Amino acid sequence: MRKVYFDNNATTPIHPEVKQAVEPFLGELFGNPSSIHWAGRDVKGYYEIAKEQAARIIGAEGHEIVFTSSGTESDNHAIKGVAYMKRDRGNHIITTTVEHPGVLNTCRYLEKRGFDVTYLPVDRFGIVDPEDVKRAIKKETILISVMYANNETGTLMPIGEIGEIAREYGVLLHSDMVQALGKIPIDIKTLNVDLASFSGHKIYGPKGVGVLYIKEGIDIDNLIHGGHQEQGRRAGTENMVGIVAFGKACELLECEMDNENERIEKLREKMLRGILEKIEGVRLNGHPELRLPNTLNLSFEHVEAESLLISLDLQGIAVSAGSACSSGSTEPSHVLMAMGIPPKLCQSSIRISLGRQNNEEDVEYFLTILPGIVKRLREMSPFYKKG
Ligand SMILES: *Cc1c(COP(=O)(O)O)cnc(C)c1O
Repeated sequence: MRKVYFDNNATTPIHPEVKQAVEPFLGELFGNPSSIHWAGRDVKGYYEIAKEQAARIIGAEGHEIVFTSSGTESDNHAIKGVAYMKRDRGNHIITTTVEHPGVLNTCRYLEKRGFDVTYLPVDRFGIVDPEDVKRAIKKETILISVMYANNETGTLMPIGEIGEIAREYGVLLHSDMVQALGKIPIDIKTLNVDLASFSGHKIYGPKGVGVLYIKEGIDIDNLIHGGHQEQGRRAGTENMVGIVAFGKACELLECEMDNENERIEKLREKMLRGILEKIEGVRLNGHPELRLPNTLNLSFEHVEAESLLISLDLQGIAVSAGSACSSGSTEPSHVLMAMGIPPKLCQSSIRISLGRQNNEEDVEYFLTILPGIVKRLREMSPFYKKG
């Protein structure tokens, strides 16, 4: 059976050149980069290169990059780090209702520890209004956290505008940019972002490595205490395999991303056209233009997403219902709900996220399989009336 992977927003396959680049670090390059002797020295240079590679892709400086264990850790570190550092100045945090659980659940945790969090609503496309951000700021506000690209819909947030507001009011801005990296260009300096989260396994690197960008001059509390690694910002002997892989993945993005994203966007548009031609009662969720080139979130009226996902899986096609982080729960997606989509339609929504390994044949295969499955599931639905 053909196997097609359309869940690249959940995780991506490792790029073959990334795999090749890390192999020596599972063998002869085993040293601890903090060691003074040859084994440490052999490795230290590669650590510095990886940091430069990670910095360059977002327009930052090497010393502004902190390697972490995941996008989730980066979110935690940014938000708790600012909250603990600035608690004497204020206890108010502003975020949105459509953030990743790495942000939302960190904010909920802080609420239990005496912080006050404003969860701003979004419009029907999933976009927060910068004016709402401005109005929510009060003298106790210490942090704004708004994601750049939503993982479920691909919708892009007006981070540049929010950055200007944050700067005008002297409030720090964190952005979860895990989904944005590699899919749209990021120039961290023009966006006026102070802290930003990234993850290796969303950019064709391995799981278990992330980056937190901390703008020069910004001091936040450390969450992991121990040795002096990462300039004292995050202790623990460096995950050289993950770090080298992250750097290599960024270097590859630099040469491949423009062409790849153009190609992937064409595939996605072909897929969307095909679906709308062949199937009635389909709605596109998220903003039609202001979104990532690879993501498609669709509601199929009178179809249960879970059943659709399982039927597609039986044909070798991997998609997701909502996000990987919330699947397994029967709750409708918090992102789609926040956009005002009725619960029934939320539970009829799937996310298709393409990646560099996908090609025309994958899309054609999907378009031959999908209509029959949707038809069969609808015929089983008591609410579906034909014609
Ligand atoms: C995947 C994802 C994360 C979490 O990254 P991990 O490395 O899996 O912890 C955070 N935010 C967004 C938007 C994501 O898509």
